[in-house]
Amino acid sequence: MENEYISTVLIVDDTEANLIALSALLESEDVNVLQARSGNEALKIILTNKIDIILLDVQMPDMDGFEVAEILRGNNKTKTIPIIFITAISKEEEYIFKGYELGAVDYLYKPIRNELLKSKIKVFLRLNKQAKIIEEKNSKLEMIINELKEKKDEISRLARLDGLTGVFNRRVFDENFGNEWARCFRNKKYLSVIMIDIDFFKQYNDTYGHLVGDDALILVAKEIVKTVGRSYDEVFRYGGEEFVVLLPNTDYQGAIFIAENIRKNIEKLEIEHRNSEIAKYLTVSLGISTCVPSDNIEKMTLLDIADNMLYDAKRSGRNRTTGKNLDKLMNNI
Ligand SMILES: [Mg+2]
Repeated sequence: MENEYISTVLIVDDTEANLIALSALLESEDVNVLQARSGNEALKIILTNKIDIILLDVQMPDMDGFEVAEILRGNNKTKTIPIIFITAISKEEEYIFKGYELGAVDYLYKPIRNELLKSKIKVFLRLNKQAKIIEEKNSKLEMIINELKEKKDEISRLARLDGLTGVFNRRVFDENFGNEWARCFRNKKYLSVIMIDIDFFKQYNDTYGHLVGDDALILVAKEIVKTVGRSYDEVFRYGGEEFVVLLPNTDYQGAIFIAENIRKNIEKLEIEHRNSEIAKYLTVSLGISTCVPSDNIEKMTLLDIADNMLYDAKRSGRNRTTGKNLDKLMNNI
């Protein structure tokens, strides 16, 4: 692709004869040649064309070559265009024009030696092409880096989700539970946990097969998320057929309300379960624990008690919610 690129050289000279001579000289090279007869004309051409190198006569009426260069230097779009000054005056001039992009300025002295001009132009154009190739490669690299970043974000997002149900996984629960515990501890707010377990799920899988079992897990997870309603951050798959809901700033009554809604909504899904020992449809049992985190209680105790409550719900008939308000218990002591 870069081979197809043809460089454009702008020749700026107030003397027609010089323009003709320089243009003729460059005709044998593989370049576009544009001409300007004054500084003003040159600036107009530079603003509307993509110029790779400028041959700039220093001695011109109205605006001399250094003034033109000064203007180019002041513009971000033009300050990197290489300039070869063409001058009849002494070499002292090399020190007049400073501050232009390093390496982008050179001088040629009249009378011009053709071979010297050609070789200087070649060097500049080669540098120019290399710079363009590097620029292209850089922008490609940048694209690749951005794609990789996106993929990495996607991977780390997926790593946080349960592959089957799309709710957060156990690892994220452990993380969020720790964070919410600390936050509620600081703010002296209630933290409630609901453990949810599908009733007779082994029998369900045995009856309908594991694929149908997976579908049921997906439906149950969706219904829990929908019922909790506040944010996905609060529903997690805890184990096989077990889910956990984390409810910061929620007291015991609030947690019972949400748990009972989850239980009723899942029953209302009417997922047929002909080998459930308690109902025609798939049901869940729920265990709740609530506390205001403090030094009086271990983080894991809250979880253990929710788990115990879940088993109480199972033992006492399933398709029900059982809970314990630890805060109340501690206040009573
Ligand atoms: Mg002149």
